[in-house]
Amino acid sequence: MSRVFNFSAGPAALPDEVLARAKDDLLDWAGSGMSVMEVSHRSKAFIAVAEQAEADLRELLVIPGHYKVLFLQGGATLQFSSVALNLATQDSVVDYAVTGSWSKKAIAEARRYATVNAALNMPESDAPWGPIPPVADWALSDGAAYLHYCANETIAGIEFPFVPKNGAVPIVSDMSSTLLSRPVDIEKFGVIYAGAQKNIGPAGLTIVIVREDLLGSARAGTPTLLDYDVMAKSGSMSNTPPTFAWYMAGLVFAWIKDSGGLEAMAQRNSLKAGKLYAAIDNSAFYSNPVHPECRSWMNVPFTLADNSLDAKFLSEAEMRGLCNLKGHRSVGGMRASIYNAMPEAGIDALVEFMAEFEKVHG
Ligand SMILES: *Cc1c(COP(=O)(O)O)cnc(C)c1O
Repeated sequence: MSRVFNFSAGPAALPDEVLARAKDDLLDWAGSGMSVMEVSHRSKAFIAVAEQAEADLRELLVIPGHYKVLFLQGGATLQFSSVALNLATQDSVVDYAVTGSWSKKAIAEARRYATVNAALNMPESDAPWGPIPPVADWALSDGAAYLHYCANETIAGIEFPFVPKNGAVPIVSDMSSTLLSRPVDIEKFGVIYAGAQKNIGPAGLTIVIVREDLLGSARAGTPTLLDYDVMAKSGSMSNTPPTFAWYMAGLVFAWIKDSGGLEAMAQRNSLKAGKLYAAIDNSAFYSNPVHPECRSWMNVPFTLADNSLDAKFLSEAEMRGLCNLKGHRSVGGMRASIYNAMPEAGIDALVEFMAEFEKVHG
């Protein structure tokens, strides 16, 4: 059995080199006679792994010293609550850009903790979708505690082509499915968070990057483990962190560094996405409803001209080792998630299969 091209949206494919290294380490990690999963998170050896992972992530993203990096649990979904608990009071107004399913879930959760304002409301059902209007045209509130947006809507394949700005209001971004796909100007943000299982590592780990001046104002009643300040002061070790996922993310960071860093990732990802969108646009059989300006590099949804062929498309793709192309249950059709770990060869194989399928059925 050889490895397939896995287009899963998440948990998603990991680089072969990372999995091979983890396999080598599994029974006897660093000559310890144990796996990394079996040692204390407070041991010298694990602390070294944790610190190296953070150092590599800081180097990759060029994270300035006045930002803390947290390695947490609970997924991006728990951050929907954490952000409001740490940055807003019950009397605050908080601005949200709603551009699809995940930002809709984020604003719904924030509604439990503050007064929410949908400063931009573009549900993914608006097709054709986009472009995203400039922030000057949004319905921003006065004195908002923060402005939240989802940098990449994983389900509909919508990626922000710019970073919103509203004076000094902290910008908060859910980057679950785009972090590490290209360079980011960290200083434009108050908080960035991302669940790991898309482009960072296995499920179970959530990365939070938070500007220092936003620490220490979690509202009364905030659960201890959701308080950014507590987690920052304890090095994300107020309780047992997800040690294996942290170690795996560290291997992924090292792999990205060895592959040329985020500039190289951006080049590769732009090329990969460009090839796939070109194949879709140059056919009368496949289509994608998102405006070219805000098409995702990471998640490429597409539909067939005749959806009664969907099942056939999926099964024939799978026979060729092109797996997990079924679109999200809420939108149907297909979706190719092409994170960092998807090689260009996977895109070429998919594009070739799509052309052949169209020839027979188009
Ligand atoms: C997957 C995803 C989430 C949810 O992540 P969990 O780790 O399951 O909580 C939230 N936002 C975006 C953009 C995602 O892609």
